[in-house]
Amino acid sequence: MRTLNLGILAHVDAGKTSLTERLLHAAGVIDEPGSVDDGNTQTDTLALERRRGITIKSAVVSFHVGDVTVNLIDTPGHPDFIAEVERVLSVLDGAVLVVSAVEGVQAQTRILMRALRRLRIPTIVFVNKIDRSGARGDGILRELAERLTPALVPMGAPTGLGTRAAGFVPAPPPLDVLAEHDDALLAAFVEGATVPAGRVRRVLAEQTARSQVHPVYFGSAITGAGLDALTDGIAAFLPAATGDAADPVSGSVFKVERGPAGDRIAYVRMFAGTMKTRERVRLSGGAEAKVTGIAVFDDGGATGSEALPAGRIGKVWGLGGVRIGDAVGTARHGIRDHHFAPPSLEAVVEALHPQQRGPLFAALTELAEQDPLIDVRHDDVRRETSVSLYGEVQKEVIQATLAEEYGIEVTFRDTTTICIERPAGTGDAFEIGEKNGNPFLATIGLRVEPAPTGRATRSGSGSRPVRCRRRSSPRCRTPSAPP
Ligand code: GDP
Repeated sequence: MRTLNLGILAHVDAGKTSLTERLLHAAGVIDEPGSVDDGNTQTDTLALERRRGITIKSAVVSFHVGDVTVNLIDTPGHPDFIAEVERVLSVLDGAVLVVSAVEGVQAQTRILMRALRRLRIPTIVFVNKIDRSGARGDGILRELAERLTPALVPMGAPTGLGTRAAGFVPAPPPLDVLAEHDDALLAAFVEGATVPAGRVRRVLAEQTARSQVHPVYFGSAITGAGLDALTDGIAAFLPAATGDAADPVSGSVFKVERGPAGDRIAYVRMFAGTMKTRERVRLSGGAEAKVTGIAVFDDGGATGSEALPAGRIGKVWGLGGVRIGDAVGTARHGIRDHHFAPPSLEAVVEALHPQQRGPLFAALTELAEQDPLIDVRHDDVRRETSVSLYGEVQKEVIQATLAEEYGIEVTFRDTTTICIERPAGTGDAFEIGEKNGNPFLATIGLRVEPAPTGRATRSGSGSRPVRCRRRSSPRCRTPSAPP
């Protein structure tokens, strides 16, 4: 059985959550598709998500399509929760980018597609809501080509746009885009020769896997139109996870949550090797932890297991101080890389009841385990705690989470822009550790210079200690007296 770790990404309201419900229903995991509007979906399980009708935390659900186990990861679409999307990208084998046939390409859609293409994540585009009035067909294709990428391969055409009867008629993929990356196909295309359908599908799968082209499907997550074709496309054109279960353990933690007993549960994507219960694993930073429990995602939910092999996603217990972005076993490059801009806003959080100041800081620190980009800071002088934010909705979510999960009522002061101080110029200084008669004289120096724009940290500068060198080093200035 192959495994495909699939992300569903979209601008908020494009229909990701509804699409997830439909796919689960089609795969027989649920009897009836839940409705975002009724607040009974599989993936939006947080009370807050259901109340607001938006996805806040990524969620994993698993189902089977033919011989493929698909671990579907539903990610938030609201720009305030882009950090949650960022954490998921590094563990995906493929993605479906959902675009509404009515609203079309939104700012967030472009940000997501840019990141998907930069990371070369094989991506299918699904144009949703073809049943809604105002739905467009060719107009959307033009918009996708102009605003996302011209490397699109329409897999058919929508019919009855804007009506309940809207459908999708599959058609052989056009060869022109595929021929751009395949000389033999180009020759056949120019000569007008017939290319066998099997070969076209093979080429399409190869080019999609290399993220050179993106198959495009149309449909409706509400009526179910076009979903069979999309499901076929997911299984046929997105590449399954690779990785040898017999190799040394290598995995990445993309989500951390607290269980009912306060236990820390890490969501781990395995790239190689097999993690086993009761075995010790190395975490980022060199710490070791003993795995006390594993649940592997399969057929709907996660079920207890003794082992988590390469390619799979599971919940893992026992990894003590584990944090989002940590490697388990051998580190794999990439998960800590930032694909989106860091938060540019901040706000001071205040406990309504002064006796809850201590618990508030502890609770925020715990929330920062799940979302490191909120970057909780405490100013001892002003006795203020502040967090970094992407926007006002995130503020509301933190407030509600503190109230509901920790029983702490808070208010936020006005949101302000994070101010990063950068040194205006370069400065350096050094000292000579000199003692009469000591043959091992050395100088130590420090240079402070502005980091390149975008690389500055909160402390502002890119200060770099100048290496301590022996006085005899030709690169070390040795003035007779310190300046
Ligand atoms: P998400 O924010 O991307 O997860 O989008 P949701 O799945 O929450 O859907 C947003 C809204 O669009 C909800 O009111 C859905 O009922 C509605 N919706 C989603 N897909 C479709 C569709 O294909 N057709 C129509 N008519 N409405 C849809």
